[in-house]
Amino acid sequence: MVVVLSEELASELDRKLKEWFLELADILGWRVDKVLDSYRLAQRSVIIDVRDDGREINGVRLRVPSESRDTYYYVSVGPYGAKCTCEASVIRGEICKHIVAGLITWNMISVIKYGKWLELRGIEWLGNRKKNNNDEKP
Ligand SMILES: [Zn+2]
Repeated sequence: MVVVLSEELASELDRKLKEWFLELADILGWRVDKVLDSYRLAQRSVIIDVRDDGREINGVRLRVPSESRDTYYYVSVGPYGAKCTCEASVIRGEICKHIVAGLITWNMISVIKYGKWLELRGIEWLGNRKKNNNDEKP
């Protein structure tokens, strides 16, 4: 798919994408450059499956290259959860850079196809760890 954007639209998208990245970093408690690492991973990923119900994108599956090893991880993200085959995700249950690459890809497809930006505050699993920690306090 080739998408040609006017300069005006491209700069509007650029501005919105920066805001979206800042919000994402804030929710995750990450530095913005870590989110940008995920963005670079997203650009090098292969989309395996897109869940499209005709009105919105309900998630994606993709193959994301490892930053440190000569291997790939498989990521699935959607409204109700996310998983990745890397150690950080499988063993430690972390939201890893690969899952965030999946989230960024999901958002890009949603914006291109339906003009809808993912509402990050509406994705419960993104902020779940903090909430769970609070719940565990006696
Ligand atoms: Zn991962």
